[in-house]
Amino acid sequence: MIVILLGAPGSGKGTQSQRLAGKYGFQHLATGDIFRAEIAQKTALGVKAQDYVKAGKLVPDSIVTEMVAARLESGGKYLLDGFPRNLVQAQSLAEMLKGNGSSIDLVCFLSLAPAEAIRRMSSRRICSQCAEVYNALSRPPKKDGVCDKCGAGVIQREDDTEATAAKRLMVFNDLTEPLAAYYKAEHVFHEVDAGQSPPQVEAALCAIIDSARTAS
Ligand code: AMP
Repeated sequence: MIVILLGAPGSGKGTQSQRLAGKYGFQHLATGDIFRAEIAQKTALGVKAQDYVKAGKLVPDSIVTEMVAARLESGGKYLLDGFPRNLVQAQSLAEMLKGNGSSIDLVCFLSLAPAEAIRRMSSRRICSQCAEVYNALSRPPKKDGVCDKCGAGVIQREDDTEATAAKRLMVFNDLTEPLAAYYKAEHVFHEVDAGQSPPQVEAALCAIIDSARTAS
């Protein structure tokens, strides 16, 4: 099963992906997490991506698609978070999946008002090691600055500052939101109100996934 989670930065894709991956056994493929790990390790890919990520711009499509293609195995159960981000990537994904005999089962769009997305991004914190997502206001780690799950440092992402967050939201509106229209026409598309609490969003997503599983 291949599920795509679409949504503005701050709409909760990472949080929900972590929950759904655990519950259904999906492999969580989050392109932003991969870039952050590669940048931290100063790999060749990280060096190529770092200026784009820091500035809140999209990393060039050729780099992203190559990175995803190298990680998608045929027959795998994937939850795609942060990819595709524009129509070119969506078309590349369709080609990749065709090539390994699979297809997209569900596209879930987490819709959120822009002001709330900015508010959430500015208070978001993440584990520098395992990428667990926290929130300084609503879900801080039990011990200040320390990840509950792995004990590594909890930090604010460099691109979650208010100015960069606003820029990322503009990129989303211009490039990623049009994907909703693309997938509405092409695939099984569902919209979920991401302004609800995380457990409510999770319940809505689980209901969508469960009904798709029953139908297949
Ligand atoms: P995210 O964690 O999904 O908010 O992504 C953080 C940053 O990684 C983005 O602002 C981009 O710079 C980069 N990035 C992640 N996924 C993609 C993608 N599919 N295409 C281009 N750039 C991406």
